[in-house]
Amino acid sequence: MGSIASNHPLVLLFPFMAKGHTIPLLQFARFLLRRDLTVTVITTPANRPFVVESLRDTTASIVDIPFPDEIPDIPSGIESTDKLPSTSLFHKFAAATARMQAHFERLLEALPRVSFMVTDGFLWWTLESASKFGVPRMVFYGMSNYAVALRREATKSGILRGPQHEDELVTLTRFPWIRLSKNDFDSVFKSPEPQSLTFEFQMNVVSATAKSYGMIVNSFYELEPVFFDYLNEESAPKPWCVGPFCANIVAEPELQPRKPGTWIGWLDQKVEEKCSVLYVAFGSQAEISTEKIREIAIGLERSRVNFLWVIRKKEWGLPDGFIERVGNRGMVVREWVDQREILMHEGVKGFLSHCGWNSVLESICAGVPILAWPLMAEQFLNARMVEEEIKVGFRVETCNGSVRGFVKWEGLTKLARELMEGDSDKGKQVRNKVKQLAAVANKAVQDGGSSYQALDLLINQICNCR
Ligand code: UDP
Ligand code: UDP
Repeated sequence: MGSIASNHPLVLLFPFMAKGHTIPLLQFARFLLRRDLTVTVITTPANRPFVVESLRDTTASIVDIPFPDEIPDIPSGIESTDKLPSTSLFHKFAAATARMQAHFERLLEALPRVSFMVTDGFLWWTLESASKFGVPRMVFYGMSNYAVALRREATKSGILRGPQHEDELVTLTRFPWIRLSKNDFDSVFKSPEPQSLTFEFQMNVVSATAKSYGMIVNSFYELEPVFFDYLNEESAPKPWCVGPFCANIVAEPELQPRKPGTWIGWLDQKVEEKCSVLYVAFGSQAEISTEKIREIAIGLERSRVNFLWVIRKKEWGLPDGFIERVGNRGMVVREWVDQREILMHEGVKGFLSHCGWNSVLESICAGVPILAWPLMAEQFLNARMVEEEIKVGFRVETCNGSVRGFVKWEGLTKLARELMEGDSDKGKQVRNKVKQLAAVANKAVQDGGSSYQALDLLINQICNCR
């Protein structure tokens, strides 16, 4: 652990307690450490082991403050959203974090001078604490510039509350080449219920975001220049594209090799057999109904692709006889895996993904094309981006053409093979494009790259004017 009292500027990182929000900020810690900054990560007792393990080869300090107890409907001891009994409790959980404010401020009092803090957008109340102590707050956005820009523009244009049918395709004046529907957006933006906890929470998030010093974006300029430029001309806060955080910024020689999961051996074997593998995973958060699991299973079975499928919850059952029927063609894993390691494996040639933003970036950095099956939050926008804007994958077909429609197995089988192999132009194009983007992504974070320079500029600006 590094000493808190070093002479290097101290940066506080405070991730939100969801895996998809915490992981990228912990990766970002490495970017700051590489710049000789001192990093302290704030977490809660139950999340501490994950944070410690993720940063075990670094000098980052890890401090935990108590998580609020007695949150109605949330069993005590749950300090991470992926452990919630239902995603419907998400906002209740997120709103309760405001009760950590007094502890957070006690910590700020005890720390030596903090140069700046990077805190998740959901921890909106950290802005007030930051102001009290005269520390600039950068808000961390776990979303693409594309999704943030389209949401802003759609909200401004009024189409989200307009008379259009949920699936009617419309265009936004600013981005006339994109055709999208209300169904691409979350209901909280379309039909907010004033006075509800969710609405109040969103208002707090949005207002604190706008008053923050800047916005740390996990993306790179070359991926989405138009959308970055749009956000950059908008009023506040100024976006800083300094990612992708999942890119390997340095070889990690000092890292002890972890015990590889059995799936790595299985993937090695597939490479020897010259087979391509489709990696199937839907992130840490989404709830998947039994009907959907069944369609995925049938789709994988009938597509005859080799697949590695990570299923998050033990209780999500597979159709009878599925495992026996697919035999060694498929592997089902029910543990936490190192997704980056899997995507980087040479046997993995495609990713059936819910399009959480981290998964999209991890796939791009590994040069793996995506088969998009969005489920919630801004994943519908990410899927649109993947297919139409950056062209690194296809989207599974829904029964009724609606972006939120049910996906039947046929919608998956048709595309899985085309994505990974074969001679169709469509398949070849996405495979080439994702390889090209992988090179650009990994270059962006290297010395002299766009994200590298942006981070240098930000650090100079923020540390020198203090
Ligand atoms: N947001 C944020 N940080 C993030 C993701 C989202 O501050 O990493 C904010 C942002 O203002 C966004 C809002 O939270 O508009 C809702 O985001 P999200 O789609 O993740 O939440 P949900 O769809 O579950 O309401
Ligand atoms: N992840 C992982 N192992 C797992 C499940 C998820 O490493 O078994 C990681 C994944 O690599 C990504 C994050 O968890 O970094 C999930 O973030 P994403 O934005 O893709 O989806 P979310 O979980 O937020 O829906």
